[in-house]
Amino acid sequence: MKYDNILTTCPYCGCGCKYYIQVINGVAKGVMPCKEDPVSEGKLCIKGWNVVDFVYSEGRLTKPLIKENGKFREASWDEAYNLIVSKFKKIKEQHGPQAFGLLSSAKTTNEENYLMQKFARSIIVTNNVDHCARLCHASTVAGLAAAFGSGAMTNSIPEFEDADCFLITGSNTTEQHPLIGSRILRAKERGAKIILVDPRLIQLAKFADIHLRQKPGTDVAWLNGLMYVIIKDGLVDEEFVKNRTENYEKLKKEVMNYPPEKVEEITGVPKEDIISAAHIFGNAKTASIIYSMGITQHTTGVDNVKSCANLAMITGNMGKACTGVNPLRGQNNVQGACDLGALPNVFPGYQAVANGEFREKFEKAWKMDDKIPENVGLTVVEMTNEAHAGNIKCLYIMGENPMVSDPDINHVKESLESLDFLVVQDIFLTETAELADVVLPGTSFLEKDGTFTGTDRRVQRVRKAIEPLGESKPDWLIISELASRMGSSAFEYNSPKEIQDEIASLTPLYGGISYERLDDLGYLQWPCLDKDHKGTVFLHKGKFTRGLGCFFPITYKPPAELPDKEYPFTLTTGRILFHFHTGTMTRCVPKLDKEVPTGYVEIHPVDADRLGIKDGEIIKVSTRRGTINIPAYITRKVPEKIVFIPFHFKECAANILTNPALDPIAKIPELKVCACKVESIGE
Ligand code: SF4
Repeated sequence: MKYDNILTTCPYCGCGCKYYIQVINGVAKGVMPCKEDPVSEGKLCIKGWNVVDFVYSEGRLTKPLIKENGKFREASWDEAYNLIVSKFKKIKEQHGPQAFGLLSSAKTTNEENYLMQKFARSIIVTNNVDHCARLCHASTVAGLAAAFGSGAMTNSIPEFEDADCFLITGSNTTEQHPLIGSRILRAKERGAKIILVDPRLIQLAKFADIHLRQKPGTDVAWLNGLMYVIIKDGLVDEEFVKNRTENYEKLKKEVMNYPPEKVEEITGVPKEDIISAAHIFGNAKTASIIYSMGITQHTTGVDNVKSCANLAMITGNMGKACTGVNPLRGQNNVQGACDLGALPNVFPGYQAVANGEFREKFEKAWKMDDKIPENVGLTVVEMTNEAHAGNIKCLYIMGENPMVSDPDINHVKESLESLDFLVVQDIFLTETAELADVVLPGTSFLEKDGTFTGTDRRVQRVRKAIEPLGESKPDWLIISELASRMGSSAFEYNSPKEIQDEIASLTPLYGGISYERLDDLGYLQWPCLDKDHKGTVFLHKGKFTRGLGCFFPITYKPPAELPDKEYPFTLTTGRILFHFHTGTMTRCVPKLDKEVPTGYVEIHPVDADRLGIKDGEIIKVSTRRGTINIPAYITRKVPEKIVFIPFHFKECAANILTNPALDPIAKIPELKVCACKVESIGE
């Protein structure tokens, strides 16, 4: 019998816990925590403990599939590649490169994301490449880059242990980032204060010193309200503002329009609570702002993020340990997918495509005859809209499932069905893959080498523990083989290590990252500029990446769709502890499925009573986009007139209902707020 313990990184949330996979005779059998890992410290959440089950689940794709007469049949790799190459070439010839869209994946490795955007830019010759960060943290990337010069989490997970105060908003941290949640609770035991701002009574509410339950979509107003009190009561860090920032007077002028009484009117939060929260935050020695999609998934997502940045800077909580603005990334490698340029406006390392020097550098490195377009490409939702309009003819989607994750699914389905050609590369026959013309079987994290970048810019190794199942292949190999068949000689890699070396040579932020160093040190946090650089624990020490931190005066704007007579409720959506993203990697895990086997809508008892709804009854929830039937969960977790639906469940998909209205800068849809109607159907 042969035993192996392979150290790798969790493929679920952005915490990036490392653990050992126990392998017996080539079969992964279980998980053993890693005590030396600075993030998990030898603890795991329920998803991590059960990770092996999804890898071997029945639904795994093991052969390429080609659709004929509306049905899939198994095909050889040769046949699938030949069909894709001939279709890609034909569509490019007939309609040009801008008729293509490529979706990369926050679940796949850095190397694979790098190759996907390289394929888009050098083989298809388009910047129409994006991924699901567009749906979660595009506002973070845009907002923090504008304020600080870098769009990533400023500080590190281990620092949470020693912060004096947390402002947590739009993040159900103990459920979505359990190992970060437990650090916050440990800090609380030590005496740290928690200010929670969330419409729902999430688990953290039990531990919060103060809980502000704002109306969804009113974040700019309460953030301006906190700053109003901080300025008025003399809690501004004057020295920091003077030496490290610009534009303060303009911010102050705007913020002075938000006295607590007015903020109470807009947000529903009592003015006394605004004042108390401002005093707690303003008096803390070190205060850390933690947020997630409750802040970003709005038509004002960038405004919300900039307001968080304003609050951190006004109190001097930047550029030092245990402070900062800390967006928690949902998926394992959403940080890495952004870093590696799976975005329509930047090359790897956030090097703008609009900059001719960068374009030239990549054209040369990628041995291109063509010129990379200088125009920014289409984002996720724009690709769908353009497909619907008949302008995008072909989508190549790796590891994404827009048929569950994107807003207004009925519209997404029509868009995908109107394509000339759809290729989906995944490990499961997802709802999106079912609509494809060709499906390519990728491999899970256990069957390949690579790196993931966790939410705190922590680059860590993913190590192959078992052989690919059936005829499946790692995504990096599929993209490389496809590129070679399209005629490129710039995709000839023997291993992901060679891809990382190429990344390091072209991406200053990752310049000092190599497999050798990661194997030796365990992780490196970017910026890591060269082989002697030890990585960066927290950003903006002494100087912001952009020089001075920039305050942005922000005026409150309401959400795109507010409740009215016909749709009198506010719908908000989110995630739960036991499931991950569109459910493909958790609903097939018996222990997780048993905990929460299907979706539900949380509704307040007063509303349920008024509508004659019983707990567990199947009810109808409708918006202007569509209707779903879903079990009712009567609970005081939600305030009156607000309902909450987790988005993981395809049979009662929250995103049939959500609003695709976009933030004008980040193009992120307003998944967190729309108007809805709730009805009993008497079942
Ligand atoms: Fe995996 Fe996140 Fe759980 Fe850690 S906290 S084991 S990274 S899902």
